Amino acid sequence: MTAQTTTVYAYAAPAPKAPLERVTIARRALGTHDVLIDIKYAGICHSDIHIARAEWGEGGFFPVVPGHEITGVIAEVGPGVTRYAAGDRVGVGCFVDSCRECENCRAGLQQYCTGETGMVGTYSATGRDGQPTQGGYSQSIVVDEDYVLRIPDALPLDAAAPLLCAGVTTYSPLAYWQAGPGKKVAVVGLGGLGHLAVKIAHAMGAEVTVLSQSLRKKNDGLHLGADHYHATSDLSTFTALAGSFDLILNTVSAGLDLGAHLGLLKIGGTMVQLGVPEHPQSLSAFPLVAQRRSLSGSLIGGIPETQQMLDFCAAHDIAADIELIRADQINEAYERVLASDVRYRFVIDTATI
Ligand code: NAP
Ligand code: ZN
Ligand code: ZN
Repeated sequence: MTAQTTTVYAYAAPAPKAPLERVTIARRALGTHDVLIDIKYAGICHSDIHIARAEWGEGGFFPVVPGHEITGVIAEVGPGVTRYAAGDRVGVGCFVDSCRECENCRAGLQQYCTGETGMVGTYSATGRDGQPTQGGYSQSIVVDEDYVLRIPDALPLDAAAPLLCAGVTTYSPLAYWQAGPGKKVAVVGLGGLGHLAVKIAHAMGAEVTVLSQSLRKKNDGLHLGADHYHATSDLSTFTALAGSFDLILNTVSAGLDLGAHLGLLKIGGTMVQLGVPEHPQSLSAFPLVAQRRSLSGSLIGGIPETQQMLDFCAAHDIAADIELIRADQINEAYERVLASDVRYRFVIDTATI
């Protein structure tokens, strides 16, 4: 058993908005219930960029190694580990610990942990060794087995990585608001989250519409499983589709005219905010009260639901459409994500770190 901390290579943002660079970081010694994972792939989520650029406020930890869409293979297990063995194909998502005792943790909703420290983020949080947690843009990671997911054999490890955040973030609200046959679902923004939302909502049997800034990606959207595709830059979209949808998932990383989008819901419909833009957004009450509409939000998914989502994706042949990159292309990939030029998730081959 690895009784010492191990030193591994990683890519870190040294300071807010600074380009990421190669560094070494320490991983904690393997605890009784820990597994050591050889990371093979790490997806680039827009949240990585928000955090590396300190767009969610001061107080983050720098240098920060982002990455919470991790897949790899177990290299070693602690003596108390019961569910995993060396060689298993596994994943790690957005958190690596939680209190385990609060009502939400006991219900398997660890992402909403109300314990003293809340859920412990895979990076930019304080780990149980008292050190800042560091994420998946690295060669290996040590994680308690209770926060590790099993990757079904049917899913390739590279295209499965984005499921650990983007997949479950879209699966969870689609399941909660019962997307399925007879339901009209709109997905706003065809990026990392959006393209998986389209695939998953389609597989659940819903009628799916993409609302993108332009028609540039229309063929892709239809190919991914959307039934309809409209541009939000064309203002007639908002009159043509008024009162159409049961459910709207807003995956946009920037501010949006929320009122205009709420107007697209049927009576009693719900728009779920998934994107977490840098700045607060304003909203008139009229589109909400007018048709008893709801505006809600949703954060990733708990451990049981993440496993359920992985099994659902394996059964429906769903994984991300990825562009595999070398670690020295991370900064360029960040710029392309910021320019909405991602088709549809960048995934780092961590062997290149
Ligand atoms: P992404 O790949 O960059 O996709 C966002 C998409 O939003 C873009 O591809 C673009 O789609 C659209 N968009 C971007 N800027 C826009 C603008 N100014 N106006 C209108 N549309 C715009 O990002 P992602 O990784 O999917 O993440 C999306 C957001 O969700 C981020 O804020 C991220 O932090 C957040 N997030 C939240 C959770 C959660 O648990 N709630 C989990 C993961 C990520 P089109 O080109 O099609 O318009
Ligand atoms: Zn994410
Ligand atoms: Zn808890």
